[in-house]
Amino acid sequence: MGAGKLINEAENHILHTYNRYPVVLDHGEGVYLYDTEGKKYLDFAAGIAVQALGYGDETYNQALKAQIDKLLHTSNLYYNQPTIEAAEKICAAAGLDRVFFTNSGTEAIEGAIKAAKKYAYTKDGCTDHEIIAMNHSFHGRSLGALAVTGNAHYREPFEPLPGIVKFADYNDLESVKALVNDKTCAIIMETIQGEGGILLATEEFLRGVKDICEKRDILLILDEIQCGMGRTGTMFAWQEYGVKPDIMTCAKALGCGVPVGAFVMTEKVAQGSLKPGDHGTTYGGNPFVAAAICKVFDIFEERKITKHVKEIGAYLDEQLKQLKSEFGCIAAHRGKGLIQGLELAEDVPVGEISAKALEQGLILITAGGNVLRFVPPLVIEKEHVDEMIQKLKAVLPK
Ligand SMILES: *Cc1c(COP(=O)(O)O)cnc(C)c1O
Repeated sequence: MGAGKLINEAENHILHTYNRYPVVLDHGEGVYLYDTEGKKYLDFAAGIAVQALGYGDETYNQALKAQIDKLLHTSNLYYNQPTIEAAEKICAAAGLDRVFFTNSGTEAIEGAIKAAKKYAYTKDGCTDHEIIAMNHSFHGRSLGALAVTGNAHYREPFEPLPGIVKFADYNDLESVKALVNDKTCAIIMETIQGEGGILLATEEFLRGVKDICEKRDILLILDEIQCGMGRTGTMFAWQEYGVKPDIMTCAKALGCGVPVGAFVMTEKVAQGSLKPGDHGTTYGGNPFVAAAICKVFDIFEERKITKHVKEIGAYLDEQLKQLKSEFGCIAAHRGKGLIQGLELAEDVPVGEISAKALEQGLILITAGGNVLRFVPPLVIEKEHVDEMIQKLKAVLPK
């Protein structure tokens, strides 16, 4: 079937919640994708920061194939080896103590919120605790995750949303302080706001929030779903701030393509929160996705992925900076490692630029605030950055 016909079929049957780009992707190799017509694309989106290892990695694929033949799923009523190993690896990488595996980032957020609520409930027996979240944040689309997502457009049609949530301004410590009270049980934020437009927390802000949390036994939940797993040049973005969360959420590149997420916590939170009967999942962390996680951590270590991200991220940073100096339509450049953004002038809609880039054989996605988002596979090389810049130059208005 030709691409046009496939797209028609899709538009007849798939719920129209996405305005998709008009290509049908067929296969991938390295950091390139190919559509059903054989056209080649350089991928600077990685399936929204998921495919950290790119496509068709032999070692990763073999590990998954072997696990399919061995054991796919068991439920969480029994133990299995890959899940135990995956738990050890993620706890060791984060310096945290206990993990609950989920099927998505959204579910990791749900679990983190439940853990925080239960922690506060265990202390005082009350059910009127409050959560502080950030404006322009994104934590997912389920009702609980939406309740802490700082985007009124996403939230409004589905209100009332669960829980008492108050919104502060990211990087404005005073705005957080103004909302903290005796009922506050958690402060949730992304270490780097991804969907919101690639906005980095300042060190002062993150440390200030951590201080408030420590003084009042409020839990700090850091959402590392997009910025974690090596993307900034450390395994988790918070590791460079020296601020450790009480609960961390993880997903996207955690399984490098298999649907898996996690919320990970300190022993103290674990002891005071979710107990048998409080939370569960049929699929979460099954042997198949766990085998993927194990192999991802092994590959990260063997190939020194975070070191590579530091080097190539610095190169991408330089090239984007240079681009900004050449093109007046670029209003700002932000980011770190391999999560970067270019904010374009208001009269240059990013959607049009990413659509034109696609025609040039470059896959780029956008973020809030008219931002072009660069979240490529972590295994890209300088030549790929150069190729991307060339293609982008061809579509940016002079
Ligand atoms: C993508 C994302 C989520 C939601 O993850 P899903 O896997 O789509 O459910 C939550 N938080 C952040 C920061 C994200 O980037």
